[in-house]
Amino acid sequence: MNETYKAIELSGPGKFSEVRKPLLGPGPNEVRIRVEACGVCHSDAATVEALFPIEWPRVPGHEVVGRIDALGSGVQGWAVGQRVGVGFLSGFCAYCEFCRNGDLVNCRNQGFTGIHRDGGYAEVMIAKASGLVSIPDDLSSAAAAPLLCAGVTTFSALRNSPARAGDVVAVLGIGGLGHLGVQYARHMGFEVVAIARGAGTAELAKKLGAHHYIDSSTTDPASALQALGGAKVILITASGGKTLAATFKGLRPGGVSIAVGVGPEPIEIAGMDLIFGERKVAGSLTGNPATGDTTLRFSALSGVSPMIETVPLDQAAAAYAKMMAGKARFRMVLVTEAGAPQSTPLM
Ligand SMILES: [Zn+2]
Ligand SMILES: [Zn+2]
Repeated sequence: MNETYKAIELSGPGKFSEVRKPLLGPGPNEVRIRVEACGVCHSDAATVEALFPIEWPRVPGHEVVGRIDALGSGVQGWAVGQRVGVGFLSGFCAYCEFCRNGDLVNCRNQGFTGIHRDGGYAEVMIAKASGLVSIPDDLSSAAAAPLLCAGVTTFSALRNSPARAGDVVAVLGIGGLGHLGVQYARHMGFEVVAIARGAGTAELAKKLGAHHYIDSSTTDPASALQALGGAKVILITASGGKTLAATFKGLRPGGVSIAVGVGPEPIEIAGMDLIFGERKVAGSLTGNPATGDTTLRFSALSGVSPMIETVPLDQAAAAYAKMMAGKARFRMVLVTEAGAPQSTPLM
């Protein structure tokens, strides 16, 4: 048994290389997955650019879809041959204070996929069973992959927000996250406002389901939102702190700006605008595994799907570079031979 598999790993910051790794069995409470597709996410920069402390070598990738081909001891509820997904949170511990309180997202012992554990830029990956998400049959692996991070992040933030059907909900930024956020907001029954820079995005925003489009390069987005009665929720998918501040006054009283695009800059809000109107600023970190299941199911039911460009696994470095250059429309997805359309599933 000297079986090996292909993986794209980093030997240090920015140093991608294609390697063969020995095929190992899953440990207790883990499963082994034959990866079919893995999305390329902006947060992969945490590994590629070592924004977190990384133990090298490391395989990045946290939008993984594949089929279980081996179960470790103690795994319950999952079966060999089942198609599953793995997202950014690599699986909760079930014994820390947060887990015991039901807050699985904030588990203290939860590593991040592709950062603390090897991720999905590979033909095979070992995952904790507690982090797995089930994939509906009617979604292809490549189309499902971005839903494991970009999808869950936007779906969970909107679903847990105070907005109710008919409320004005704005989505700021029409990129990898925002193009999904607009679709979810529309299918959740909100009056949807898309905000982006430039007139060129207006048509796409409408096609994705936005009722209104605000070009923030020519219009003050806060006043434009107020003209619509004020937003109950603004989902900030762009990473600049300034974008949140520039739209904050577009919230109606009691409204909340939810940041999901991670960036280093501080968010500067006037205390006046926070207090008068009792507005709120919140962060939202992806979602728990059950919300992951719901994201995938809701996407299949409502026809929400990411716009993707698929590339073979061995072109991971180029796909990452294209995404970082802002040239992906809108999500790059790496596909393995097992995930290529012409291949037959393992089972
Ligand atoms: Zn925990
Ligand atoms: Zn991500």
